[in-house]
Amino acid sequence: MSEVVPEAEFGDSGQLTRRILIGLVAGMAIGVAINFLGKDLAISRLLVDDLFYVVGEIFLRSLKLLVVPLVLVSLACGTAALEDVTKLGRIGGKTLGLYLLTTAIAISLAILAAVIVEPGVGFNLPTEALGFTAKESPGFAQIFIEIFPSNPFEAMSEGRMLQVIVFAVLLGIAMTLSGEPGRDLLRLFESSNAVIMKLVFMLMQIAPVGIFCLIAKVFANEGVDAFESLLKYFLLVLAVLFVHAFVTYPLFLVILGGLSPVGFFRKLRAPMSVAFGTASSGATLPVTLRAVEERLGVDRSIASFTIPLGATINMDGTAIMQGVATVFIAQAYGITIGPAGYLTIVLTATLASIGTAGVPGVGTIMLAMVLRQMDLPVEGIGLILGVDRLLDMTRTAVNITGDATVSCIVARGEGKLDLDAFNRD
Ligand code: ASP
Repeated sequence: MSEVVPEAEFGDSGQLTRRILIGLVAGMAIGVAINFLGKDLAISRLLVDDLFYVVGEIFLRSLKLLVVPLVLVSLACGTAALEDVTKLGRIGGKTLGLYLLTTAIAISLAILAAVIVEPGVGFNLPTEALGFTAKESPGFAQIFIEIFPSNPFEAMSEGRMLQVIVFAVLLGIAMTLSGEPGRDLLRLFESSNAVIMKLVFMLMQIAPVGIFCLIAKVFANEGVDAFESLLKYFLLVLAVLFVHAFVTYPLFLVILGGLSPVGFFRKLRAPMSVAFGTASSGATLPVTLRAVEERLGVDRSIASFTIPLGATINMDGTAIMQGVATVFIAQAYGITIGPAGYLTIVLTATLASIGTAGVPGVGTIMLAMVLRQMDLPVEGIGLILGVDRLLDMTRTAVNITGDATVSCIVARGEGKLDLDAFNRD
């Protein structure tokens, strides 16, 4: 089970969450104020392009710094702690199954909403000269092959998360199987894990300021014009994201896990805020892992596997944007999609969201894959780019909420959820 965490640390987390939320709201307020007063004023540029940019970037880099060492060490220890390797297959199967199921539900909701609301109908933007060229998205075969590392150091230095996950799981299994000679290495990993978690804790102390700067910068730079024509699309994606986060996940928690969603969301406020501020599930990973283990009481053997895997492949929020965007683009170009077409969107958007890396804006690049599959004009992506940043931030918060939901459900099913910690206020 998870190590016992001193009460003081829980108390601190509560205060820290409050400070992070204050940073988030203050960042929005200051950003909007700068935008309103004039983002091109010298003082605005000094604040936004220098101060907020530098501090925000340093915070982001520090988060990213911890991701690879944390996943490697914590997952290797987590796997070793499972003792019985066969459990790994069962946990992996359940996790993947739930990730796929929640994603398919997310896209279906998105498509249903877009078909009813018709955000793209009557859209009269010129179809030529949108000035957007889609980047090439990788094919499925390549995505699959690239799960397997050929060089662990390259995988780590290039931050290829799935490869690091595969290596860490193998290392964890081998450490257990090697018996006595493997113990020393395991102890070294255990001690590194404690040190890295402490680093995460230290970094979290500056999170309120980091979040403030990242968010103030986005809101200061956001153009209001783009929102006018895309308001229906923007609000629709937001609405589906909210429904999925606050209806689908709670239903899953209650029905499959017998767990209360209220405490769940309260404890997830810090990682959700960091996800919103960074628009990156990958960069948020240390914060999500910490909250899921220490505040929600998921045992490390489960959390260290489900959370990094989820941050890499489980992107329900992204799938929602891709679902709404595909229907929106088809409607904007006056192209009709039949029932088989909608099914294709569910399948390809599930795969596209799996292939989306947990970094800002990649979901929109992977949207090209869905559009190509549907024979829809890929330039259509240019239509939605103007409002994508805010949606990216929101969908990233949903993405990590999905990871935490599945992690809690899998842990509950395996008897690896500390209910006292989960229910503790
Ligand atoms: N920014 C998202 C994430 O990191 C991915 C995306 O939708 O672009 O989860």
